[in-house]
Amino acid sequence: MTALEDIIKDKIRENGPMSLGEYMGLCLGHLEHGYYMTRDPFGRSGDFTTAPEISQMFGELIGAWLADSWMKIGAPSAFTLLECGPGRGTLMSDALRAVEGIVEFHEAMNLTLLETSPVLKEAQKKLLGDYNPVWCSDLNQIPTNNPLIVIGNEFLDALPVCQLIYRETGWLEKMVNLDVNDTTCLGEFEVSEQLKPHIPNLLIEPKEGDIVEASPEQKKHLQKFMNIVQKQGGIGLFIDYGFIHNVPGDTLQAVKNHAYCSVLDSPGEVDITAHVNFGDLGAFAMQENMTVHGPVSQGAFLKTLGIEVRANHLSQNATAQQRLDIQSALKRLCGEDTKVGEMGQLFKVIAFSSDPKLELAGF
Ligand code: SAH
Repeated sequence: MTALEDIIKDKIRENGPMSLGEYMGLCLGHLEHGYYMTRDPFGRSGDFTTAPEISQMFGELIGAWLADSWMKIGAPSAFTLLECGPGRGTLMSDALRAVEGIVEFHEAMNLTLLETSPVLKEAQKKLLGDYNPVWCSDLNQIPTNNPLIVIGNEFLDALPVCQLIYRETGWLEKMVNLDVNDTTCLGEFEVSEQLKPHIPNLLIEPKEGDIVEASPEQKKHLQKFMNIVQKQGGIGLFIDYGFIHNVPGDTLQAVKNHAYCSVLDSPGEVDITAHVNFGDLGAFAMQENMTVHGPVSQGAFLKTLGIEVRANHLSQNATAQQRLDIQSALKRLCGEDTKVGEMGQLFKVIAFSSDPKLELAGF
């Protein structure tokens, strides 16, 4: 039993069943025992790989997108460039290197990193320290005085989600409880007040046993970014795996060493994520008077930004092995065969801005 399991059980004994959102928040973010707090989970030796860790091309194209978007919002002489959940800092490091020739962009940017993990902050310091970033561990610390360009790759999926299940009587909330053997188990309970306003507006009538996921945390984050963009101008770009239509689905998953396990297994030692409901988030942003761009598939986004041209360019001065690696990275990032880990179709890209006339690259 992990130390965190003990803590969770105590909380359940004290307060009754725990929402999946609170459970996931503790598993990932508990200050001492949370999954992200204690390790660097990326790469072959870790639990998963992300697009920027697969190839420098990903970050380079995002860099070009950032500089282009900054120009499109009028090239403000000071702006906050915020990355949410920067992981090892690879994406931002590749992005900023790719546009180092655009001096005004570099001079105007105030790099801000939203990160809770001390281990990953250290990694980010190594790669991004020269850009003098400011770290925030809390939404309230994000500067509100300048235009904001905010990006997040595989950030939203790391935020807690709650689950609801449809029964004859209506929606019930799935919560973590203790069974007769004092082991954690999932049960169905009346929907908590906090979750009620977040039940997604589905495109179809739910039927018995359908599961939907809702993430008040994702919305809280987007709300904060959208408020700044509304007041100061700016853009948000989020990339994640997920689905476009607002339909039911049980996507909560736990991964340890690249293999699936139960979300109740070894709390704090496995990664727990859920597919992002882009349909729901897009509707939320529109409701908040934002202009929504996309969602489009990651493959389409990267191809429109010119990833094939970049791959050919990189291949020109490469060894035979490097050329193979570039081709395989291209396929992994843009290919549509989800079963073999290709990300092009599974991952989606969505952006929001405050200017309905804005045409953003890639959409
Ligand atoms: N963007 C990176 C890492 C994605 S993993 C990449 O593409 O490789 C998720 C990241 O979000 C990690 O850096 C994790 O520590 C961070 N994170 C998770 N929950 C967070 C929260 N509530 N606030 C800030 N950062 C968080």
